[in-house]
Amino acid sequence: MLIGLDLAGRDVLVVGGGSVAARRARAAIDEGARVRVVAPQAHEEVAVLAAAGSLVWEQRPVVESDLEGTWLVHACTGTVDAEIAGWAQTRRVFCVVASAAELGSARTPAVVTAGGVSLGVLSVDAADPARAATVRDQLADQVLHGRVDLRPSRSVSTADVLAPGEVVLLGGGPGDPALMTVRARTLLAQADVVITDRLGPTGVLTELREDVLVIPVGKALGAHKATQVEIHDLLIEHAGAGRRVARLKGGDPFLFGRGGEEVLACRAAGIPVRVVPGVTSAVAAADVAGIPVTHRGTADRLHVVNGHGRFTDLDLAAMRDPAVTVAILMGMAGLARLVSQLTDAGIDRMLPAAVVASATTDQERVIHAPLGELVARCAAAGVGSPAVVLLGQVTREGFLDPTHPGRAVEAPSRRRGVDA
Ligand code: SAH
Repeated sequence: MLIGLDLAGRDVLVVGGGSVAARRARAAIDEGARVRVVAPQAHEEVAVLAAAGSLVWEQRPVVESDLEGTWLVHACTGTVDAEIAGWAQTRRVFCVVASAAELGSARTPAVVTAGGVSLGVLSVDAADPARAATVRDQLADQVLHGRVDLRPSRSVSTADVLAPGEVVLLGGGPGDPALMTVRARTLLAQADVVITDRLGPTGVLTELREDVLVIPVGKALGAHKATQVEIHDLLIEHAGAGRRVARLKGGDPFLFGRGGEEVLACRAAGIPVRVVPGVTSAVAAADVAGIPVTHRGTADRLHVVNGHGRFTDLDLAAMRDPAVTVAILMGMAGLARLVSQLTDAGIDRMLPAAVVASATTDQERVIHAPLGELVARCAAAGVGSPAVVLLGQVTREGFLDPTHPGRAVEAPSRRRGVDA
Protein backbone atom coordinates (compact mmCIF):
# COMPACT_ATOMS: atom_id res chain seq x y z
CA MET A 1 0.00 0.00 0.00
CA LEU A 2 1.03 3.57 -0.59
CA ILE A 3 1.50 5.39 2.72
CA GLY A 4 2.95 8.75 3.72
CA LEU A 5 5.87 8.54 6.11
CA ASP A 6 6.78 11.43 8.36
CA LEU A 7 10.54 11.10 8.58
CA ALA A 8 11.21 14.39 10.37
CA GLY A 9 13.62 13.78 13.23
CA ARG A 10 13.63 10.00 12.63
CA ASP A 11 16.68 7.86 11.93
CA VAL A 12 17.08 6.62 8.37
CA LEU A 13 19.90 4.31 7.37
CA VAL A 14 21.29 4.32 3.84
CA VAL A 15 23.64 1.46 3.06
CA GLY A 16 25.85 1.95 0.03
CA GLY A 17 27.69 4.88 -1.46
CA GLY A 18 26.65 5.06 -5.12
CA SER A 19 24.53 7.64 -6.88
CA VAL A 20 21.28 5.87 -5.91
CA ALA A 21 22.34 5.92 -2.26
CA ALA A 22 23.20 9.61 -2.58
CA ARG A 23 19.76 10.34 -4.06
CA ARG A 24 17.96 8.41 -1.31
CA ALA A 25 20.02 10.13 1.36
CA ARG A 26 19.26 13.53 -0.15
CA ALA A 27 15.52 12.76 -0.29
CA ALA A 28 15.48 11.68 3.37
CA ILE A 29 17.42 14.79 4.41
CA ASP A 30 14.89 16.94 2.56
CA GLU A 31 12.18 15.29 4.68
CA GLY A 32 14.05 16.24 7.84
CA ALA A 33 15.29 12.73 8.68
CA ARG A 34 18.47 12.02 10.62
CA VAL A 35 20.44 10.21 7.94
CA ARG A 36 23.34 7.82 8.42
CA VAL A 37 25.20 6.42 5.41
CA VAL A 38 27.29 3.30 5.87
CA ALA A 39 29.67 2.56 2.99
CA PRO A 40 33.41 2.03 2.61
CA GLN A 41 33.46 4.42 -0.36
CA ALA A 42 30.90 6.98 -1.39
CA HIS A 43 29.73 9.23 -4.17
CA GLU A 44 31.04 12.76 -3.95
CA GLU A 45 27.59 14.05 -3.01
CA VAL A 46 27.60 11.88 0.13
CA ALA A 47 31.00 13.26 1.09
CA VAL A 48 29.78 16.81 0.52
CA LEU A 49 26.61 16.26 2.58
CA ALA A 50 28.69 14.66 5.33
CA ALA A 51 31.13 17.56 5.36
CA ALA A 52 28.18 19.95 5.60
CA GLY A 53 26.82 18.02 8.59
CA SER A 54 23.62 17.05 6.72
CA LEU A 55 24.30 13.36 7.27
CA VAL A 56 26.70 11.07 9.11
CA TRP A 57 28.91 8.90 6.90
CA GLU A 58 30.51 5.83 8.42
CA GLN A 59 33.28 4.66 6.09
CA ARG A 60 33.17 0.92 6.54
CA PRO A 61 31.18 -2.16 5.51
CA VAL A 62 27.71 -2.52 7.00
CA VAL A 63 27.04 -4.79 10.01
CA GLU A 64 23.69 -5.97 11.33
CA SER A 65 23.81 -3.75 14.41
CA ASP A 66 23.73 -0.69 12.10
CA LEU A 67 19.98 -1.27 11.89
CA GLU A 68 19.61 -0.63 15.62
CA GLY A 69 17.15 2.19 16.28
CA THR A 70 16.47 2.98 12.64
CA TRP A 71 12.97 3.48 11.22
CA LEU A 72 13.75 2.81 7.61
CA VAL A 73 16.64 1.26 5.70
CA HIS A 74 17.64 1.90 2.13
CA ALA A 75 19.79 -0.97 0.85
CA CYS A 76 21.69 0.41 -2.13
CA THR A 77 24.83 -1.72 -2.19
CA GLY A 78 24.01 -3.91 -5.17
CA THR A 79 25.99 -6.70 -3.46
CA VAL A 80 24.70 -7.37 0.05
CA ASP A 81 21.17 -5.96 -0.31
CA ALA A 82 19.49 -9.35 0.24
CA GLU A 83 21.39 -9.76 3.48
CA ILE A 84 20.43 -6.29 4.69
CA ALA A 85 16.80 -7.00 3.78
CA GLY A 86 17.01 -10.18 5.87
CA TRP A 87 18.30 -8.30 8.89
CA ALA A 88 15.59 -5.70 8.45
CA GLN A 89 12.95 -8.42 8.27
CA THR A 90 14.12 -9.94 11.55
CA ARG A 91 14.19 -6.57 13.25
CA ARG A 92 10.85 -5.43 11.78
CA VAL A 93 12.32 -2.39 10.12
CA PHE A 94 11.00 -1.42 6.70
CA CYS A 95 13.63 -1.86 4.03
CA VAL A 96 13.77 -0.49 0.48
CA VAL A 97 16.04 -2.43 -1.85
CA ALA A 98 17.16 -0.26 -4.73
CA SER A 99 18.44 -2.98 -7.05
CA ALA A 100 15.57 -5.47 -6.60
CA ALA A 101 12.43 -3.94 -5.09
CA GLU A 102 10.80 -7.35 -4.50
CA LEU A 103 13.51 -8.23 -1.96
CA GLY A 104 12.49 -5.40 0.35
CA SER A 105 9.46 -4.72 2.53
CA ALA A 106 8.92 -1.18 1.25
CA ARG A 107 9.16 0.57 -2.10
CA THR A 108 9.60 4.23 -2.94
CA PRO A 109 7.06 5.68 -5.35
CA ALA A 110 7.89 8.05 -8.17
CA VAL A 111 6.84 11.38 -6.67
CA VAL A 112 5.90 14.81 -7.90
CA THR A 113 5.18 17.60 -5.45
CA ALA A 114 3.30 20.67 -6.62
CA GLY A 115 0.86 23.12 -5.17
CA GLY A 116 1.12 21.68 -1.69
CA VAL A 117 0.26 18.11 -2.72
CA SER A 118 2.54 15.15 -3.31
CA LEU A 119 1.55 12.58 -5.90
CA GLY A 120 3.18 9.17 -5.60
CA VAL A 121 3.03 6.46 -8.21
CA LEU A 122 3.97 2.84 -7.62
CA SER A 123 3.90 0.25 -10.32
CA VAL A 124 1.99 -2.77 -8.99
CA ASP A 125 4.63 -4.84 -10.67
CA ALA A 126 7.59 -4.21 -8.38
CA ALA A 127 9.97 -4.94 -11.21
CA ASP A 128 8.84 -2.00 -13.33
CA PRO A 129 9.77 1.28 -11.62
CA ALA A 130 10.32 2.97 -15.00
CA ARG A 131 6.61 2.67 -15.70
CA ALA A 132 5.80 4.46 -12.44
CA ALA A 133 8.16 7.27 -13.41
CA THR A 134 6.48 7.62 -16.81
CA VAL A 135 3.02 7.78 -15.26
CA ARG A 136 4.29 10.26 -12.69
CA ASP A 137 5.67 12.50 -15.45
CA GLN A 138 2.33 12.50 -17.24
CA LEU A 139 0.49 13.35 -14.03
CA ALA A 140 3.02 16.07 -13.30
CA ASP A 141 2.28 17.50 -16.72
CA GLN A 142 -1.45 17.66 -15.93
CA VAL A 143 -0.78 19.34 -12.61
CA LEU A 144 1.66 21.86 -14.00
CA HIS A 145 -0.63 22.75 -16.88
CA GLY A 146 -3.40 23.64 -14.48
CA ARG A 147 -5.65 20.75 -15.48
CA VAL A 148 -5.96 19.65 -11.87
CA ASP A 149 -7.82 21.76 -9.34
CA LEU A 150 -5.21 22.35 -6.65
CA ARG A 151 -7.15 24.83 -4.60
CA PRO A 152 -6.81 23.88 -0.94
CA SER A 153 -9.96 23.24 1.04
CA ARG A 154 -8.49 24.88 4.10
CA SER A 155 -6.62 28.11 4.33
CA VAL A 156 -2.98 27.11 4.55
CA SER A 157 -0.32 29.31 3.08
CA THR A 158 2.90 27.90 1.80
CA ALA A 159 5.14 28.95 -1.04
CA ASP A 160 3.21 26.77 -3.48
CA VAL A 161 -0.28 27.41 -2.23
CA LEU A 162 -2.31 30.42 -3.25
CA ALA A 163 -4.63 31.30 -0.39
CA PRO A 164 -8.09 32.87 -0.70
CA GLY A 165 -7.80 36.64 -0.54
CA GLU A 166 -4.17 36.60 -1.61
CA VAL A 167 -2.52 38.25 -4.60
CA VAL A 168 0.54 36.77 -6.25
CA LEU A 169 2.56 38.57 -8.90
CA LEU A 170 3.78 35.88 -11.24
CA GLY A 171 6.80 36.40 -13.45
CA GLY A 172 5.68 34.70 -16.65
CA GLY A 173 8.91 34.85 -18.61
CA PRO A 174 9.31 36.18 -22.14
CA GLY A 175 6.47 34.32 -23.85
CA ASP A 176 7.03 30.61 -24.22
CA PRO A 177 4.93 28.98 -21.47
CA ALA A 178 7.67 26.39 -20.99
CA LEU A 179 9.86 29.18 -19.65
CA MET A 180 7.56 29.88 -16.72
CA THR A 181 8.84 28.60 -13.42
CA VAL A 182 7.26 25.52 -11.86
CA ARG A 183 6.10 27.69 -8.98
CA ALA A 184 4.43 30.21 -11.27
CA ARG A 185 2.65 27.40 -13.09
CA THR A 186 1.53 25.80 -9.84
CA LEU A 187 0.18 29.03 -8.38
CA LEU A 188 -1.51 30.04 -11.63
CA ALA A 189 -3.37 26.72 -11.59
CA GLN A 190 -4.90 27.66 -8.23
CA ALA A 191 -6.14 31.11 -9.15
CA ASP A 192 -9.80 32.09 -9.26
CA VAL A 193 -8.93 35.31 -11.08
CA VAL A 194 -6.03 35.89 -13.47
CA ILE A 195 -5.13 39.45 -14.42
CA THR A 196 -2.83 39.41 -17.43
CA ASP A 197 -0.68 41.62 -19.58
CA ARG A 198 -0.43 41.63 -23.35
CA LEU A 199 3.15 40.31 -23.22
CA GLY A 200 4.30 37.17 -21.52
CA PRO A 201 3.08 33.59 -21.72
CA THR A 202 -0.47 34.29 -22.86
CA GLY A 203 -0.63 30.75 -24.29
CA VAL A 204 -1.18 29.35 -20.81
CA LEU A 205 -4.48 31.20 -20.45
CA THR A 206 -6.30 28.78 -22.74
CA GLU A 207 -5.33 25.95 -20.41
CA LEU A 208 -7.05 27.42 -17.36
CA ARG A 209 -10.25 25.86 -16.08
CA GLU A 210 -13.39 27.39 -17.53
CA ASP A 211 -14.54 28.86 -14.24
CA VAL A 212 -11.39 30.99 -13.91
CA LEU A 213 -12.01 34.68 -14.58
CA VAL A 214 -9.33 36.04 -16.93
CA ILE A 215 -9.01 39.82 -17.10
CA PRO A 216 -6.61 41.15 -19.76
CA VAL A 217 -5.29 44.57 -18.80
CA GLY A 218 -2.46 44.59 -21.33
CA LYS A 219 -1.28 47.88 -22.56
CA ALA A 220 -0.21 48.33 -26.13
CA LEU A 221 1.49 51.66 -26.56
CA GLY A 222 -1.14 54.24 -27.44
CA ALA A 223 -4.01 51.86 -26.62
CA HIS A 224 -4.22 51.81 -22.87
CA LYS A 225 -6.71 49.17 -21.93
CA ALA A 226 -6.48 49.73 -18.18
CA THR A 227 -4.62 52.34 -16.21
CA GLN A 228 -2.25 51.31 -13.46
CA VAL A 229 -4.73 52.55 -10.87
CA GLU A 230 -7.47 50.47 -12.46
CA ILE A 231 -5.21 47.43 -12.23
CA HIS A 232 -4.62 48.12 -8.54
CA ASP A 233 -8.35 48.42 -8.01
CA LEU A 234 -8.97 45.08 -9.72
CA LEU A 235 -6.36 43.33 -7.57
CA ILE A 236 -7.80 44.77 -4.40
CA GLU A 237 -11.43 44.18 -5.39
CA HIS A 238 -11.00 40.49 -6.23
CA ALA A 239 -8.65 39.61 -3.39
CA GLY A 240 -10.82 41.64 -1.02
CA ALA A 241 -13.75 39.43 -2.00
CA GLY A 242 -11.75 36.40 -0.90
CA ARG A 243 -10.65 35.23 -4.34
CA ARG A 244 -7.22 33.86 -5.17
CA VAL A 245 -5.68 36.36 -7.53
CA ALA A 246 -2.79 35.72 -9.90
CA ARG A 247 -1.32 38.78 -11.58
CA LEU A 248 0.49 37.29 -14.56
CA LYS A 249 3.22 39.54 -15.90
CA GLY A 250 5.69 39.25 -18.73
CA GLY A 251 9.31 38.55 -17.85
CA ASP A 252 10.10 39.41 -14.26
CA PRO A 253 7.47 41.37 -12.30
CA PHE A 254 9.96 43.89 -10.97
CA LEU A 255 11.90 44.73 -14.11
CA PHE A 256 9.99 47.55 -15.81
CA GLY A 257 6.86 45.68 -14.84
CA ARG A 258 5.41 48.15 -12.33
CA GLY A 259 5.20 45.20 -9.97
CA GLY A 260 6.47 47.30 -7.08
CA GLU A 261 3.52 49.66 -7.43
CA GLU A 262 1.10 46.76 -7.40
CA VAL A 263 2.68 45.37 -4.25
CA LEU A 264 2.44 48.77 -2.57
CA ALA A 265 -1.20 49.18 -3.57
CA CYS A 266 -2.10 45.75 -2.17
CA ARG A 267 -0.19 46.36 1.06
CA ALA A 268 -1.85 49.73 1.52
CA ALA A 269 -5.22 47.98 1.22
CA GLY A 270 -4.20 45.25 3.68
CA ILE A 271 -4.14 42.55 0.97
CA PRO A 272 -1.45 39.86 1.36
CA VAL A 273 0.76 39.91 -1.74
CA ARG A 274 3.94 38.22 -2.86
CA VAL A 275 6.10 37.90 -5.94
CA VAL A 276 7.36 34.93 -7.93
CA PRO A 277 10.43 35.80 -10.01
CA GLY A 278 10.39 35.31 -13.76
CA VAL A 279 12.87 34.94 -16.59
CA THR A 280 13.33 38.47 -17.84
CA SER A 281 13.20 39.21 -21.56
CA ALA A 282 16.24 41.46 -21.10
CA VAL A 283 18.38 38.36 -20.80
CA ALA A 284 16.19 35.69 -22.43
CA ALA A 285 15.95 37.59 -25.72
CA ALA A 286 19.74 37.74 -25.86
CA ASP A 287 20.04 34.06 -24.96
CA VAL A 288 17.83 32.84 -27.78
CA ALA A 289 19.75 34.97 -30.27
CA GLY A 290 23.05 33.41 -29.18
CA ILE A 291 24.17 36.58 -27.41
CA PRO A 292 25.82 36.01 -24.04
CA VAL A 293 25.16 39.25 -22.15
CA THR A 294 28.44 38.81 -20.34
CA HIS A 295 31.37 36.95 -21.79
CA ARG A 296 34.69 36.62 -20.07
CA GLY A 297 37.20 38.87 -21.76
CA THR A 298 34.59 40.70 -23.85
CA ALA A 299 31.79 42.04 -21.67
CA ASP A 300 31.71 42.06 -17.90
CA ARG A 301 28.56 44.08 -17.20
CA LEU A 302 24.98 44.40 -18.31
CA HIS A 303 23.22 47.75 -18.33
CA VAL A 304 19.45 47.52 -18.66
CA VAL A 305 17.57 50.63 -19.63
CA ASN A 306 14.03 51.73 -20.45
CA GLY A 307 13.90 53.12 -23.98
CA HIS A 308 10.86 55.33 -23.40
CA GLY A 309 12.75 58.34 -22.16
CA ARG A 310 16.01 59.99 -23.12
CA PHE A 311 19.30 58.34 -22.29
CA THR A 312 21.23 59.79 -19.37
CA ASP A 313 24.97 60.37 -19.12
CA LEU A 314 25.22 57.06 -17.29
CA ASP A 315 23.57 55.24 -20.21
CA LEU A 316 25.87 57.00 -22.70
CA ALA A 317 28.92 56.08 -20.64
CA ALA A 318 27.79 52.44 -20.64
CA MET A 319 27.41 52.50 -24.41
CA ARG A 320 30.88 53.97 -24.86
CA ASP A 321 32.42 51.29 -22.67
CA PRO A 322 33.37 48.28 -24.81
CA ALA A 323 33.11 45.96 -21.82
CA VAL A 324 29.43 46.75 -21.20
CA THR A 325 26.44 45.13 -22.89
CA VAL A 326 23.38 47.37 -23.01
CA ALA A 327 19.83 46.00 -23.16
CA ILE A 328 17.13 48.52 -24.06
CA LEU A 329 13.56 47.51 -23.32
CA MET A 330 10.51 49.33 -24.72
CA GLY A 331 12.80 50.95 -27.27
CA MET A 332 11.17 50.03 -30.55
CA ALA A 333 8.45 52.70 -30.73
CA GLY A 334 11.06 55.44 -30.53
CA LEU A 335 13.97 53.59 -32.07
CA ALA A 336 14.86 56.26 -34.65
CA ARG A 337 14.86 58.95 -31.95
CA LEU A 338 16.97 56.80 -29.61
CA VAL A 339 19.53 56.02 -32.27
CA SER A 340 19.85 59.68 -33.26
CA GLN A 341 20.36 60.67 -29.66
CA LEU A 342 23.17 58.15 -29.43
CA THR A 343 24.90 59.07 -32.69
CA ASP A 344 24.50 62.79 -31.90
CA ALA A 345 26.24 62.10 -28.60
CA GLY A 346 29.15 60.62 -30.49
CA ILE A 347 28.44 56.90 -30.04
CA ASP A 348 30.09 55.02 -32.90
CA ARG A 349 27.62 54.27 -35.69
CA MET A 350 29.50 51.00 -36.17
CA LEU A 351 28.79 49.84 -32.59
CA PRO A 352 27.54 46.24 -32.96
CA ALA A 353 23.84 45.96 -32.18
CA ALA A 354 21.00 43.47 -32.36
CA VAL A 355 17.25 43.57 -32.10
CA VAL A 356 15.47 40.48 -30.81
CA ALA A 357 11.72 40.68 -31.30
CA SER A 358 9.02 38.43 -29.84
CA ALA A 359 11.71 36.28 -28.31
CA THR A 360 10.73 32.67 -27.50
CA THR A 361 7.45 32.95 -29.43
CA ASP A 362 6.48 31.80 -32.93
CA GLN A 363 7.12 35.32 -34.18
CA GLU A 364 10.70 35.52 -32.95
CA ARG A 365 12.97 37.63 -35.19
CA VAL A 366 16.60 38.62 -34.82
CA ILE A 367 18.37 41.45 -36.63
CA HIS A 368 22.10 42.07 -36.32
CA ALA A 369 23.30 45.43 -37.62
CA PRO A 370 25.65 48.23 -36.63
CA LEU A 371 23.90 50.93 -34.58
CA GLY A 372 23.76 53.35 -37.52
CA GLU A 373 21.90 50.87 -39.72
CA LEU A 374 19.56 49.46 -37.11
CA VAL A 375 16.49 51.58 -37.91
CA ALA A 376 16.61 50.93 -41.66
CA ARG A 377 17.26 47.23 -41.23
CA CYS A 378 14.36 46.78 -38.79
CA ALA A 379 12.03 48.76 -41.04
CA ALA A 380 13.05 46.73 -44.09
CA ALA A 381 12.51 43.46 -42.23
CA GLY A 382 9.25 44.63 -40.65
CA VAL A 383 10.57 44.02 -37.15
CA GLY A 384 8.96 45.97 -34.33
CA SER A 385 7.69 45.67 -30.74
CA PRO A 386 8.06 43.85 -28.49
CA ALA A 387 11.80 43.67 -28.82
CA VAL A 388 14.95 44.02 -26.83
CA VAL A 389 17.63 46.19 -28.42
CA LEU A 390 21.09 45.00 -27.49
CA LEU A 391 24.31 46.96 -27.93
CA GLY A 392 27.88 45.84 -27.45
CA GLN A 393 30.61 43.56 -28.72
CA VAL A 394 28.73 40.38 -27.79
CA THR A 395 25.94 41.24 -30.24
CA ARG A 396 28.12 40.71 -33.32
CA GLU A 397 26.46 38.17 -35.56
CA GLY A 398 27.70 34.66 -34.89
CA PHE A 399 29.56 35.70 -31.75
CA LEU A 400 29.19 32.19 -30.35
CA ASP A 401 30.32 30.44 -33.50
CA PRO A 402 33.58 28.72 -32.59
CA THR A 403 35.39 30.37 -35.50
CA HIS A 404 34.00 33.86 -34.98
CA PRO A 405 36.75 36.44 -35.46
CA GLY A 406 35.21 39.18 -33.31
CA ARG A 407 35.44 37.16 -30.17
CA ALA A 408 39.15 36.66 -30.48
CA VAL A 409 39.60 40.44 -30.35
CA GLU A 410 39.28 40.86 -26.64
CA ALA A 411 37.81 44.12 -25.49
CA PRO A 412 39.69 45.63 -22.57
CA SER A 413 38.25 44.33 -19.35
CA ARG A 414 38.77 46.52 -16.32
CA ARG A 415 38.47 43.62 -13.97
CA ARG A 416 40.70 40.97 -15.40
CA GLY A 417 40.83 37.76 -13.44
CA VAL A 418 37.31 38.22 -12.14
CA ASP A 419 34.58 36.03 -13.57
CA ALA A 420 32.37 38.15 -15.77
N1 SAH B 1 9.02 42.76 -17.00
C1 SAH B 1 9.37 42.48 -18.38
C2 SAH B 1 9.58 43.75 -19.17
C3 SAH B 1 8.36 44.61 -19.28
S1 SAH B 1 8.59 46.02 -20.29
C4 SAH B 1 10.58 41.56 -18.43
O1 SAH B 1 11.23 41.35 -17.39
O2 SAH B 1 10.85 41.04 -19.49
C5 SAH B 1 8.10 45.44 -21.87
C6 SAH B 1 9.30 45.27 -22.76
O3 SAH B 1 9.91 44.02 -22.53
C7 SAH B 1 8.98 45.25 -24.23
O4 SAH B 1 8.84 46.55 -24.75
C8 SAH B 1 10.20 44.58 -24.79
O5 SAH B 1 11.29 45.47 -24.83
C9 SAH B 1 10.48 43.56 -23.72
N2 SAH B 1 9.91 42.25 -24.03
C10 SAH B 1 8.98 41.59 -23.34
N3 SAH B 1 8.74 40.37 -23.89
C11 SAH B 1 9.57 40.28 -24.94
C12 SAH B 1 9.84 39.25 -25.90
N4 SAH B 1 9.19 38.10 -25.89
N5 SAH B 1 10.77 39.51 -26.83
C13 SAH B 1 11.44 40.67 -26.86
N6 SAH B 1 11.24 41.65 -25.97
C14 SAH B 1 10.31 41.46 -25.03
